[in-house]
Amino acid sequence: MSDALCTQEALDLFGKLRPSIRCALAAFNDQCFPDGQEVLCGLKSQIELVRDKSASASDDYLNNLWVVDRYLDFISKYGLTWESIVNQHFSDSWCSLQDALDLLRLVKRFSRLDISFFEDQVIELERAYPYNVFFSIGATVEYFECSLCGKNIDSQECPHIQGQLYRGAMANAIVRNFVQLDHVAMVAHPRDKRCVVSYEDDGKQFQLVRHLSSLIANRQCRILDFGHLKFSKRFRPNPDYRKLRRNEQCYCGSGKKFKYCCIAMSHVESDHVDIIANRYGIDHVAV
Ligand SMILES: [Zn+2]
Ligand SMILES: [Zn+2]
Repeated sequence: MSDALCTQEALDLFGKLRPSIRCALAAFNDQCFPDGQEVLCGLKSQIELVRDKSASASDDYLNNLWVVDRYLDFISKYGLTWESIVNQHFSDSWCSLQDALDLLRLVKRFSRLDISFFEDQVIELERAYPYNVFFSIGATVEYFECSLCGKNIDSQECPHIQGQLYRGAMANAIVRNFVQLDHVAMVAHPRDKRCVVSYEDDGKQFQLVRHLSSLIANRQCRILDFGHLKFSKRFRPNPDYRKLRRNEQCYCGSGKKFKYCCIAMSHVESDHVDIIANRYGIDHVAV
């Protein structure tokens, strides 16, 4: 844990915030979502105050502050994801989940904070959703503007590299002068998983996440205890099956004899998913 952040001041600050972060998580776990978000808001203002007073601090420290800020954003999106799941706003919860994953990747890229608990859980949660086809959009734009210096990020005038941190701020490429949409493709591994074929929140596609939602809402599974999904095949009696004599014509209308047709169809295979809970409680969560 000692090198989770590269500056001691940032580590000390994170240490001071930790009890409150746990408090926010405990509130989410109890489904008191607004309470948890309020705690996080307070922590974010603390970070802002610290940053305002650190104008002359080192690059490393400012970049560490940025990471801690993203970590807080992650916890907030994590809460929002579960809140949407509990309220059965499944499409919204998918977008919050993707936001949470993006933030988690940033925290991982710029620090060694232990995020393994969350990483395992949210990646597993992703599998509860029905999405497997995504849209990918190709467009022509005039140029990408650097979020830090405002110049064309691909030009010589901009000294920044997209996605790098500079004194506690990330250089992002902002689309300028969208010229035209070239194409929309359907792909399995998109850059942005928010571009999905959308389903109604009450549709059968959300069967699995809806089941999870009711387990959480009824407190049969606590949020922090959600462990993983276990996919398996099961055989169940075929409701259409009719036992005939071997040489009779099959009931299915194929015109064949039963013994050559549906005789072996008394049970059908179906996909089965178990939601497996961990019973570690909040103490297991490394925050
Ligand atoms: Zn720049
Ligand atoms: Zn048949």
